[in-house]
Amino acid sequence: MSNIEQTLSIIKPDAVERNLVEEIKNIFLKNNITIIESKKIHISKEEASEFYKVHQSKPFYDDLCNYLASGPIFVMILEGKGVVTLNRRLMGATDPKKAEKDTIRKLYGISIDKNSIHGSDSVENANKEINFFF
Ligand code: UDP
Ligand code: MG
Repeated sequence: MSNIEQTLSIIKPDAVERNLVEEIKNIFLKNNITIIESKKIHISKEEASEFYKVHQSKPFYDDLCNYLASGPIFVMILEGKGVVTLNRRLMGATDPKKAEKDTIRKLYGISIDKNSIHGSDSVENANKEINFFF
């Protein structure tokens, strides 16, 4: 049996812009995930750079930070059994072209950079990312 966990989910600017917040929330709800807290915010480039600093050495870092700050995002604390792993499964692979059928990125992602959603990759990072936004 998995433990009850929390994780951070972010609906990225491309998906907020296309009014996909409710559709994506419904995918979580149908999978027995509870949305504990949520808010729509528009972060600065500096905040995006801080959030994504684990990627600071990557060639895509600057574009990624500009992108996350390019428009409103919808951030959520998700809670449920094994939700860190479950959320990653529901999101699908980073590149929407490689994402599995019916995953959020397969359904809605536009490209590897505009891939509609972020999700924490471990319980430890989930705690850090939740504290960053809430
Ligand atoms: N990303 C990108 N180009 C790449 C790899 C990643 O633009 O070649 C972006 C993409 O938006 C991804 C984010 O950087 O969601 C963070 O990358 P990570 O490898 O952590 O992927 P994720 O955990 O989001 O699947
Ligand atoms: Mg990641």
